[in-house]
Amino acid sequence: MTYWKREKDFIKSVGELKQYISLEPKEEIQLRKVVLRHPMCISKFYLSLIDFSDSDDPLRKMVVPSSRELDISGSYDTSGELYNTKLSGLQHKYSKTALVLSTNRCASYCRFCFRKRLVGLDSEEIIKNFSHAVNYIQAHEEINNVLISGGDPLMLSTRVVTRFLELLAPIPHLDFIRFGTKVPVYYPKRIIQDDALISLLDTYNHERKQIYFVTQIDHPREITDELKEAVKLLIGAGVVINNQTVFLRRVNDNPDVLAELMRNLVSIGINPYYLFQCRPVKRVKKHFQIPLSVGYPIVEKAKAQLDGHSKRFRFVMSHKKGKIEIIGIKGDEMIFKFHQAKDERNAGRIFSRKLNSAATWLDDLNN
Ligand code: SF4
Repeated sequence: MTYWKREKDFIKSVGELKQYISLEPKEEIQLRKVVLRHPMCISKFYLSLIDFSDSDDPLRKMVVPSSRELDISGSYDTSGELYNTKLSGLQHKYSKTALVLSTNRCASYCRFCFRKRLVGLDSEEIIKNFSHAVNYIQAHEEINNVLISGGDPLMLSTRVVTRFLELLAPIPHLDFIRFGTKVPVYYPKRIIQDDALISLLDTYNHERKQIYFVTQIDHPREITDELKEAVKLLIGAGVVINNQTVFLRRVNDNPDVLAELMRNLVSIGINPYYLFQCRPVKRVKKHFQIPLSVGYPIVEKAKAQLDGHSKRFRFVMSHKKGKIEIIGIKGDEMIFKFHQAKDERNAGRIFSRKLNSAATWLDDLNN
């Protein structure tokens, strides 16, 4: 694989981080331990957005390693990705969607990443031979869309992105192709400075196959002028952009912040699509998860501030059984609905669980 990335645009070591924050010796030892297990990468662009005088800065929390990552409760595969893997780099969980893990790199490494097990690390889960994935997709006519994810596929060179599109677009049963990316947030110049990428997307959207970008914008301060410029170019090239936000403790667990985020997304042409309950991932669970009983009212208070378009997002849990929407609380029960089901017999099923105040995931709740 070839990459667009320019090494000088990123910092990757605790030593470099010390130019921005002061670390007590004990803390430095802890952070070095954390990054040995889960590497650090932060774009200098994103670093410039962080208020380092504020130790509680939400943007800082998302990318700067923390000693809280030493807590290993949780799992490295919370949504059953191992069982959905059909061949190296290709997952098929929901009948209509194929998922390709295109790279292990991103433009910064989110400390809450649910694929922490592979981001920045050597992994057998990353696609080695894309044509094998194409053969699988061709043979499965029930698949109507492909999500190219990773890692972040926009970190790959435009030549590699072109090859993905050249091989996928001719498959007649595919209605659209999606790219999951946080590049517009972390590294917008990768889009702004690459005319070849924009012209490629324009050609495919207008002549071959519809392309969607699934962005991950988690806080209103991530909506910078540079992001807006990248988004304008993408929309001009016919890309439809849907956003998935991760619900994160001490980052966006505030109704005003969430409402401002959704409102600002809509104002620049991005559709709020999902709000994901943070998963119980090892080294993430204790750091970023919000109990369901605390989170649900926050989401409802945010929705109360929004117009219909801005509150179209669904608050969901990406569970091994499917994408489960958190519908509401009635008495002492929490109500859920299968939005997407791995076992199609569950499709649309509504069910409830007795609430307990500490539960952060479906598996913490009893029938
Ligand atoms: S951009 Fe996505 S894949 Fe990359 S670290 Fe963040 S959450 Fe994980």
